[in-house]
Order: sequence, then C-alpha cells, then structure tokens
Amino acid sequence: MIELTALTKRYGRTTAVDDLTLSVRPGHVTGFLGPNGAGKSTTLRMIIGLTVPTSGTATVDGVPFRARPRGLRHAGALLDAGDVHGGRSAVAHLSALARSNGIPRSRVEEVLREVGLSAAARRRIGGFSLGMRQRLGIAAALLGDPPVLLFDEPFNGLDPEGVRWVRDLFRRLAGEGRTVFVSSHLMSEMEHCADRLVVIGRGRLIAEQSLAEFAAGS
Ligand code: ADP
Ligand code: ADP
Repeated sequence: MIELTALTKRYGRTTAVDDLTLSVRPGHVTGFLGPNGAGKSTTLRMIIGLTVPTSGTATVDGVPFRARPRGLRHAGALLDAGDVHGGRSAVAHLSALARSNGIPRSRVEEVLREVGLSAAARRRIGGFSLGMRQRLGIAAALLGDPPVLLFDEPFNGLDPEGVRWVRDLFRRLAGEGRTVFVSSHLMSEMEHCADRLVVIGRGRLIAEQSLAEFAAGS
C-alpha cells in the first residue's frame, strides 16, 4: 500500500506536485494518468525516496522512504530508461544492483529470462533499443521481488507485442497481491491494464476512481 498525504514538491517557482493525498492499494493495477509535466515522475521519485518532498509524506507499507531509498527489496521502480551505464552488459548492470541491494545473484538470470532478454544478457546496454532498455528497467524493478512496483511510462518504445506482454505482467503482479502503480500520459495505454485510475494535472489530484467509473464519465 502506498499512501501520500499532502505531498508537495516545489522547484523554485514551479510546483511540480501540489498537496497530493491518495492511496494506492495492493492487488490492483493503478494507472497514474496525466499530461507531460503533470508531476507523475516527481511523485514516483518521492515514493521511493529518490526525491525529498518539500512538505507532506509518502509512505510505502507505513514506512516513509524520505531521505534515502530503501532499496529494491521493498519497492522496485522503472524510472527514466536513460540512466544506465551504456558500456556495461545487462548482466553486469543487474548484478551490481543485486549486490548493492542484498539480492541473490541467481535472480539476475531469472529476471532476464522473465523480460525476454536472456539472449542479449552479455551485450552492451549502449547498443540496446529503447524497448530493450525498458525491458531491462522492468527487470531491475522485479529483481528484489518487491511488494510494491512503480513503472514510469513503461510503454514507451515498446512494439505491440511488448505492450501486450507488459500489460499481462502488470495483471499478474497485481494478481499476486502486489501494489502496481503505472504512470502514463495516454488513456489508451491504461484501458486494457489498469483497474483503478488516479488522474493528475499541474501537480494536483483531479480524480481517483475505478476504470468503470471513469468510463461512465462520473
Ligand atoms: P511528468 O512526469 O508528469 O511529465 P514531472 O514530474 O517530470 O512530470 O515534472 C513536473 C514539473 O516539475 C514540470 O514542470 C517539470 O519541468 C518540473 N521538474 C521536474 N523535475 C525537476 C527538477 N529536477 N528541477 C526543476 N524542475 C523540475
Ligand atoms: P544516485 O546517487 O545515482 O541517484 P541512488 O542509489 O539514489 O544513487 O540510485 C541509483 C539509481 O538506482 C537511481 O538513478 C534510480 O534509477 C535507481 N534506484 C534507486 N532506488 C531504486 C528503487 N527502489 N527502485 C528502482 N530503482 C531505484
């Protein structure tokens, strides 16, 4: 369970996230919908403790991550697909993450298989397509087998088969009782995978409802 209470982040005069209060429940895929610049990435970064809130709190299973990321065994996130060392192989990248998060090395091959990157495991990440980078980021999020998973624009760069695979993965993770929170700027991407929706605009909460309520226009 993720709980945000009056969560706010300002950058100078820009209020990226404005007094956000909401909860994201386990056992569901919750879509986090809003246009570019709405504050989605900033919110996700505050949830895992990579960005410190200006005020308010974000807790995961009752524990605030504020000040320091608690690591991949507690919450895994696919963040910006860009921030990996291109010179490394996928195996080297994930092995380093496993080591620093106290995760058994055997998980590396497992998650690579799960995301369909086994054949590319020893190739340089620098030569990966955007879709392969997304798969690698998803592998990193899955590495610690965490109860809470955050995905920032996971569909970017994926072909239709990749999109179906990611949707099925999210449904399965939620079916296992995990909390799955997925940001997107496109409603069409949420339609076939989310069962709940949180909509934000200019950092503020606009709606929080089930997909059925959303579709009914309530
Ligand atoms: P989204 O993920 O919905 O596209 P972001 O959370 O990335 O939105 O950005 C929300 C707002 O905060 C934008 O106006 C963005 O320019 C600003 N912002 C985000 N990160 C920073 C930062 N590190 N420094 C300054 N402004 C930022
Ligand atoms: P840095 O000083 O490079 O930001 P961090 O340890 O804060 O070092 O994080 C390194 C990278 O690991 C971040 O850029 C982020 O993408 C990723 N990261 C950190 N914590 C998590 C987490 N809980 N889930 C997923 N990715 C994470």
